Amino acid sequence: MVRAGESAWRGRQLAEAIYHQRITELSEITTLPKSLRLRLIAEDWQVARPAITQVFQSIDGTERSLIQCQGPEAETVETVWMPEGDDGESGDDSDSNPGDEGAKRWRRATICISSQVGCAVNCQFCLTARLGFRRNLSAGEIAGQVLAVFDRHGVEVGRDRVNLVFMGMGEPFLNYDNFMAAVRLLIQEVGLSPQRMTVSTSGIVPGIVRFAREPAEFRPKLAISLNAPNDAIRGEIMPINRKWPIKSVVDAVRQVQLRPRERITFEYVLLGGVTDRPEDARELARMVRRTGLPIKVNLIAWNPGPGIPCTMPQLEAVEAFRSALVGAGIPTSLRQPRGRDIYAACGQLKRTVEG
Ligand code: SAH
Ligand code: SF4
Repeated sequence: MVRAGESAWRGRQLAEAIYHQRITELSEITTLPKSLRLRLIAEDWQVARPAITQVFQSIDGTERSLIQCQGPEAETVETVWMPEGDDGESGDDSDSNPGDEGAKRWRRATICISSQVGCAVNCQFCLTARLGFRRNLSAGEIAGQVLAVFDRHGVEVGRDRVNLVFMGMGEPFLNYDNFMAAVRLLIQEVGLSPQRMTVSTSGIVPGIVRFAREPAEFRPKLAISLNAPNDAIRGEIMPINRKWPIKSVVDAVRQVQLRPRERITFEYVLLGGVTDRPEDARELARMVRRTGLPIKVNLIAWNPGPGIPCTMPQLEAVEAFRSALVGAGIPTSLRQPRGRDIYAACGQLKRTVEG
């Protein structure tokens, strides 16, 4: 607004209209005087919200949206909506919407957001890596994915229980400034809580160090894609480990001032025969304990993708791995694959149009 010759205070009104009222047309922002709206439109200003162009629906309720970003390089990114039904699968009754029974088919949901078009990190098991790095998303494009999905599902902020995970396409900590600006928009303008947001990084150490310095009110929870019990295996499947080995990542994570009861998540993708063996579980348990950090492990059975030379872990191997960690006293969860049939599950986001 300052660039348009107006006071900065008008910018606050604009942010309120775009992010809180979720208005998508300048002409409808009635908190701005009509003459100003007309002038902005005449000068070709726009509210450029990313638009959903295609939606793939999974049998499990998950939706993968292709989102068209504006700009000269019209790129698409993917955003995934994962509702949880009211059939007890979420395991608690604390968050039902009183007086709103049956109005919505979901009672809580998670949205997975992309931070870049493609990814440069090149993890061997990930389909997004095959796109290569195309470009960073702007803060508006990152936050705009959330607004687009909110509108599609009629999400009411402050009433509906929605979690955000920055685990879509791209490495958020290689687009740090835009990612954090989006987080601030989502907290300050949209009204979401940082405690309902989780950012996952492949272990970009300078990014983790910066993140550790963010004030708690703007800091999402942190997940680290560990994926291997030692540097040798991790270096094979995640080339980034040669630059920032496990110890450097763990040391950076130590700098984060956790909130009461907060834990760092270590994500661990189970690759058949590579990271899912009993000795991997034992080594992982020892390594995790040695860090002394309050962590939990989130196991993810590898999701297949065309042309990726990995194998899915056997069901028994997954179960044995989990029990070994639990037996070693490590809080462990197993991520349920969502939307595998439409290429919406972890590591499958590659703008696959066939669904
Ligand atoms: N770039 C960030 C966030 C996106 S990836 C990161 O790597 O952390 C989100 C999670 O999906 C990561 O933990 C990653 O290890 C995992 N992942 C990638 N490809 C996968 C696949 N094919 N199957 C299961 N998980 C996968
Ligand atoms: Fe990038 Fe994450 Fe995929 Fe690795 S797992 S290539 S960091 S999106």
